[in-house]
Amino acid sequence: MQLVIESLSKRYPNGTQALSDLSLSITPGMFGLLGPNGAGKSTFMRTLATLQEADSGSARFGNLDVLRDKDGMRRILGYLPQEFGLYAKERAEDLLLHFATLKGITRPKERRDSVNALLEQTNLWEHRRKPLGSFSGGMKQRFGIAQALLGNPQVIIVDEPTAGLDPEERVRFHNLLASIGEHVIVILSTHIVSDVSDLCSQMAIVNKGRVLLTGEPAALVETLHGRVWRRFIEHNEADAFRSRYRVISMRLSGGKTSVRILSDSDPGDGFVAATADLEDLYFSSIDSK
Ligand code: ADP
Repeated sequence: MQLVIESLSKRYPNGTQALSDLSLSITPGMFGLLGPNGAGKSTFMRTLATLQEADSGSARFGNLDVLRDKDGMRRILGYLPQEFGLYAKERAEDLLLHFATLKGITRPKERRDSVNALLEQTNLWEHRRKPLGSFSGGMKQRFGIAQALLGNPQVIIVDEPTAGLDPEERVRFHNLLASIGEHVIVILSTHIVSDVSDLCSQMAIVNKGRVLLTGEPAALVETLHGRVWRRFIEHNEADAFRSRYRVISMRLSGGKTSVRILSDSDPGDGFVAATADLEDLYFSSIDSK
């Protein structure tokens, strides 16, 4: 089943237009919502999670009117917010059992079985009796996923999950997300390009409350084929290159400055053809709109 969002708009009372006529179709599997800070990702996620109202637009999941039938949406939703308030003194297991009750899993055996299965799945079994206050960032995020998965949700919303995780925890968290399954929708919002390239079969790039691009990452990157060029420059040449070329990115690489530019034809000037990647797509689309 698809989640179909049409013309979603939201302006905050202070005048900030956070969502601007945003439309998207999201199919089962991992969907990456990629955009810089302030793009509107959290506003979009919170709206889908029925935690705040849009000014206009609609969202449907099959026959379910997501924005109007809030209880219906909450029954099929798993949500891992950006800031996951923790009950520091509670033990992981006790809190999950409590959340399971809130989710409506009322039969004790079923509740115990699903909590145990989730503690195993998220690799928290051996930590189940520890207070959440003692958890590392990665363990907290895995606990967040465990509670989001309670009650077999069909739509799972994960907001900026890997910020602040060390590389090892990030890989672990990625593996966990990837194991969730192909039949549910997982929307992963992030400003980290590699989160999307590593994990997502579908994606959208958003900025200023709008969708700039949507589709399959590889197919979208393919649109840049033959148009990305790279070379090294001296530090003090950066401004000159920025004014002369459509610069996608400049970064230090082995003590030198590596420049990537967009050009439909061979720019000469020491540039060589580069293999386009998702980062090129991201930076060039954010830049040009
Ligand atoms: P992202 O999650 O992509 O960083 P947000 O949805 O948090 O983006 O924010 C989108 C825009 O709306 C930003 O300009 C942000 O400052 C603004 N914004 C977010 N929440 C509020 C709020 N409660 N009141 C006013 N402006 C807000």
